[in-house]
Amino acid sequence: MGLKVVKFGGTSLASAEAFRKVKNIIEQDPNRRYVVPSAPGKRFNDDTKVTDLLYQCYEAVSNGQPYDHIFNAIKERYTSIVTGLELDYDIVCHLDHVYKTLPSTVTPDYAASRGEYLNGLLLAAYLGVPFVDAANVIFFNAQGQLDMAKTEAAIKEKLADYPRAVIPGFYGSLPNGEIKTFSRGGSDITGALVARAVNAAMYENWTDVSGIYMADPRIISQPKEISHITYSELRELAYAGANVLHEDAIYPVRQVGIPINIRNTNRPEDPGTLIISSNGNGEAESDVTGIAGRKDFVIITIEKALMHSETGFVRRLLSILEEEDISFEHMPSGIDSVSLVISECQLKGKLETVIAKIDKRLEPDKVEVFHEIALIATVGRRMVYKKGIAARLFTALAESGINIRLIAQGSSEMNIIIGIENKDFDQAVKSIYNAFVN
Ligand code: ASP
Repeated sequence: MGLKVVKFGGTSLASAEAFRKVKNIIEQDPNRRYVVPSAPGKRFNDDTKVTDLLYQCYEAVSNGQPYDHIFNAIKERYTSIVTGLELDYDIVCHLDHVYKTLPSTVTPDYAASRGEYLNGLLLAAYLGVPFVDAANVIFFNAQGQLDMAKTEAAIKEKLADYPRAVIPGFYGSLPNGEIKTFSRGGSDITGALVARAVNAAMYENWTDVSGIYMADPRIISQPKEISHITYSELRELAYAGANVLHEDAIYPVRQVGIPINIRNTNRPEDPGTLIISSNGNGEAESDVTGIAGRKDFVIITIEKALMHSETGFVRRLLSILEEEDISFEHMPSGIDSVSLVISECQLKGKLETVIAKIDKRLEPDKVEVFHEIALIATVGRRMVYKKGIAARLFTALAESGINIRLIAQGSSEMNIIIGIENKDFDQAVKSIYNAFVN
């Protein structure tokens, strides 16, 4: 196996003990040469992530309020790691610099980025490898979008001089030199960008679970972990609501076919989940790869006799959404009816206007609105080849007494999406899971 880029999430770097585990993991495999850390995360349930403390500092500074007490909590996080590791490293001078620069350089992005910056310095010192500031290799354009070409070239050039390095996650710089961060959880993206630029054989993403679960563990107790999943399946699951990798972290590695391995820092012996481009050797685990969903959608159903022969009907319907700046999720249709599934928050304050415009411009026979709808996606790359999957799914829901309000199947035939009432959400996930897993 060739070169690996390893990204460690916040809980994997939350304490001195966690740092020790990370060092062990890195030392176990000489291919683990480029390391991308997050900022220290939560050590226990009620703990506060360093990134959140930094955002609080920003709030305080920008409102002209004192921020010493918040900054002291941040300082304590880093100094306790240094002390716990018995490391001879002066993190305090870097902390003091950040403390002093906050009022003059105050943007939320600069403040938040210092969590990864300081953790990167600390981890580099602890591992005894060079630190490469992400501000010098991750670039955004003036509009704040990632400049992939410039970033890739810069990482390649810089890391050519370093066989090993620590590159902090989450941030980069704008053309004017200002610090800019990705959205929350963005260290995953930095890891993917580094993996792509150095042409890694594997992008390992270390976290605090042994892979991606088949279903939400808050609903299913101890769900099975997925051993293999394709990038496309992951995209479907993440979109449907599964909380896995940052969604922008998939594209850079997917394009060049670098597999992602989700691993558990606390159980490094577990193989984790492997995210790959295709089924590979085709071994079957389960007919369904994963189940995910979200609540709070609205269904607007429009009926009109002879709708099917009225040209431009759907275009006019969608232009109403466009005017109101609303995006929709699904649009199942019948011969003389069409439904729109839209998230409740997209429609906030706009529903009446939308209905009024539909009435006026489309002259429907009937418009019905159903609130509190949940969508559940059952995703599996093997569905395409397999008979009876839909039958099993719908039988399971029927046996649990769940009324299905809507069915949609992606053209990839990789998922079946059902719309049900919010109140049936947990039971529906359980029924589907049990139908395919147990
Ligand atoms: N520390 C940042 C956050 O909490 C980025 C990351 O952890 O990926 O969102």
